[in-house]
Amino acid sequence: MTIRPAGRVYFDHNATTAARPEVVEAMIPWFTDRPGNPHSIHHFGSEAHEAVEGARASLAALIGCAPDEIIFTSGGTESDNLAVRGSVRGKARPHVVTSMIEHPAVYATCRDLERGGVEVDYAPVDEDGVVSLDAFGDALRPDTALASVMLANNETGVVQPIADIARLCRARGVPLHVDGVQGVGKIPVDVEALGIDMLSVSAHKFYGPKGIGALYVRRGIELERFMTGGAQERGLRPGTMNVPAIVGFGEACRIAREAIPGEAMRIGRLRDRLQAGLLERTGGIIVNGGGVRRIPNTISLAVPRIEGEAITLNLAVLGFAVSSVSACASGSEETSHVLLAMGLEPDVAQGAVRISLGAQNTDDEVDAFLEAFPAVVSRLRELSPL
Ligand code: PLP
Repeated sequence: MTIRPAGRVYFDHNATTAARPEVVEAMIPWFTDRPGNPHSIHHFGSEAHEAVEGARASLAALIGCAPDEIIFTSGGTESDNLAVRGSVRGKARPHVVTSMIEHPAVYATCRDLERGGVEVDYAPVDEDGVVSLDAFGDALRPDTALASVMLANNETGVVQPIADIARLCRARGVPLHVDGVQGVGKIPVDVEALGIDMLSVSAHKFYGPKGIGALYVRRGIELERFMTGGAQERGLRPGTMNVPAIVGFGEACRIAREAIPGEAMRIGRLRDRLQAGLLERTGGIIVNGGGVRRIPNTISLAVPRIEGEAITLNLAVLGFAVSSVSACASGSEETSHVLLAMGLEPDVAQGAVRISLGAQNTDDEVDAFLEAFPAVVSRLRELSPL
């Protein structure tokens, strides 16, 4: 059977998204005729200050906090580092509890801290990729300086029981950091309702610009800076503020707040149709985390005995952009630590493909993928020595 090339179909929105036209438009003046530094006292400075505060208010409205609880950073990775490193810095023999499925921005940071004498417990997950509440609760101690769990997993899309984890943390007086990078902008997130003390957000995962993010820090939470410099962002994030990116971030938050209910439903329907079609047309594949709550745009497939990378490359030749191991991990990790933690055998986990949909995807693209994917898999199966 010949497989028709599909042009350019982008199904890799968990890696990054294109900025919305409104976002780009809002940013442009702040590159050109509005050059002010928000900390300057002249009128260029004050208009930049006003724009930054408008964006802060927009993010605060999206996640249900006060604007002065937000620290702008360069993205999710920096926010995670600030929360994790900032919580243990200066403490004698601190203890951290996290999970086995965190993004490298958290787990590599924890591994790095371990080399410096910090003690870290990694709570396991069940076969659906949900963090074990029992194990998590048992790991919390009186000297635990921080608990850190992601809101939604970047590979499987599985949403973690944050409100339950927060209750365990509150009962033991442990602050809870949540890496919200794959959840914020895709599903409603309210830090009050969920009991979150710190939340990492990244604009480029929901149609904002790359290189800008934020950390929500609840009033009263003690955090140490890990970068030294000026007094920007209450001294927690020194450096001249990236005004164009912050303005674009604010616009992405404003749009997300209005768009989430409709878009989540539309993308969720596309995803469910795609998933059902793939299962029907391709024998022997598994949906990782398919039985539990996920963000609406993600499908993680395991195709036993075929390399996920081979599938991804073959699909790329046909014009489809999906990913095998997540973009952040590829190159450094051969088999997904997330899927191994869920109990998949290494040869099954190696056949993982992540499909992540977004606002611009259409039914026609889903139909084209439903033709291409089974054909690619069957061709690779014919070639496979296994
Ligand atoms: N946390 C999660 C769950 C992610 O998926 C990512 C990016 O893929 C990050 C953190 C890092 O975010 P950024 O690319 O903004 O540094």
